[in-house]
Amino acid sequence: MAMNSQGRPTAATGGSDGTQFESFSGHVGLRLAEPLIFELGTTETTGVDFEDTSDLELSCGGLERKSEIGCPGLAEPDTVRHYTRLSRRNYGIDMGVFPLGSCTMKHNPRLNEKMARLPGFGDIHPLAPKGTVQGAYQLMDELSHWLMTLTGMPAVALSPKAGAHGELCGVMAIRAALEARGDAREVVLCPESAHGTNPATAAFCGYKVKSIPAKDNGRVDLEALKAALDDTVAAVMITNPNTCGLFENEVREIADEIHKAGAFFYCDGANFNAIVGKARPGDLGVDAMHINLHKTFSTPHGGGGPGSGPVVFSDALKDFVPVPYVVKTDGGFDIVEDQTGKSFGRLTAFQGQMGMYVRALSYMLSHGSDGLKQASEDAVLNANYVLASLKDVMSASYEGPCMHEALFDDRFLKDTGVTTLDFAKAMIDEGYHPMTMYFPLVVHGAMLIEPTESESKTNMDQFIRSMRGLAEAAKAGEVERFEGAPYHAPWSRLDETQAARQPILRFAAE
Ligand SMILES: *Cc1c(COP(=O)(O)O)cnc(C)c1O
Repeated sequence: MAMNSQGRPTAATGGSDGTQFESFSGHVGLRLAEPLIFELGTTETTGVDFEDTSDLELSCGGLERKSEIGCPGLAEPDTVRHYTRLSRRNYGIDMGVFPLGSCTMKHNPRLNEKMARLPGFGDIHPLAPKGTVQGAYQLMDELSHWLMTLTGMPAVALSPKAGAHGELCGVMAIRAALEARGDAREVVLCPESAHGTNPATAAFCGYKVKSIPAKDNGRVDLEALKAALDDTVAAVMITNPNTCGLFENEVREIADEIHKAGAFFYCDGANFNAIVGKARPGDLGVDAMHINLHKTFSTPHGGGGPGSGPVVFSDALKDFVPVPYVVKTDGGFDIVEDQTGKSFGRLTAFQGQMGMYVRALSYMLSHGSDGLKQASEDAVLNANYVLASLKDVMSASYEGPCMHEALFDDRFLKDTGVTTLDFAKAMIDEGYHPMTMYFPLVVHGAMLIEPTESESKTNMDQFIRSMRGLAEAAKAGEVERFEGAPYHAPWSRLDETQAARQPILRFAAE
């Protein structure tokens, strides 16, 4: 079986006389080549000894599988090596600067991990008798309290498992509220700069999505919004601060117009890290907002663990929140599981991501209200430091200071032959995870940089030096540095067009 070696560098850097040579092993120094597990394992090998089951009576009623499963098998040491080798290829927030805009890749404090592993939290089961998990319910109640306090909103649903899932929760509550008043509406408005999950959520809930344009200053065009608002509009989904890293400073007028039209204001709260302790969405007229605990409140992200996207609700929507939720009773805490009254139902099998709740509350309590506010201030300060340090060599998309992320576009690369993609790949050679690219869509060749409050000035200065170096190299015509980049990564440039057009989503043995 041939190993797919597209993009895999095979030559070591060279002998002392400058000649290139290939290693006999396919490894490049201690950077070990690693095939797919399907290429490595065989269906004949297994890491465990199973008992002979041939004389067992089958109890599947004839539904038992007749063919081989075809899973590759490996001995235990080979399995350990396979995953250890792969894990060393990972780039994460624990490795270096991770400036992925809109994602708030902040440090995950180890205290949170310690708390989440306490047996009383880590080893409980969602079906454990209520009397045995009172502490867990109390923790959920306290987390709810903090989320409501920080947002100035009277209700919260903890169970959604990501930001996008929170959007679904919010829009379903809006739909339930509209239906309860016998007012079927069919349109959801989203600004052009919206994250793709906003229109996707609205469409998934059966709404027609209409786009509202932005003004030259990167903010929602209030006049265009007013013109689009009528009695067919169910909700307007706005991100604040928005995905251009700018605060929507007409947000109160926006909220008033939305409410005047009888619609609801859904706020995408992914960028809450810029304003925690500084502004409360409830005071800005928001009706529902998700909070990405894995962004703002430091719980791990992506490969690091499951997300969690609680949604806070205004008075107008609070009766429609999904079950389950925790309530305080005379004797302790109880969990409301049955759909009664106006709740639109249930979004998840159980109570949500308990481990994330523990981490988020640990983060909140260890920071305190002053610390949370300072984290936001430092996040905004760091982003402005990056913006101010790069705007003479890269093109900042908008005038003036930013919130917690700095948006650049590709005007500074004009006529260089270098694209945003090339620039991002060259960052990998510099030892950085690329920034968010080509999002938001409102500017050409977007580069969205979010350093978060975690980065020290030393780290940012090194990052800025690399970014300035790359920008100057591009302008000096050093196209080769970019077009084949990354040169020093375990995998060099892949054919992304082919990967998108002809994705191979299943391994097929030849
Ligand atoms: C991250 C993000 C989302 C989606 O959140 P997930 O937790 O990834 O589902 C939505 N909107 C914006 C602006 C985001 O940055």
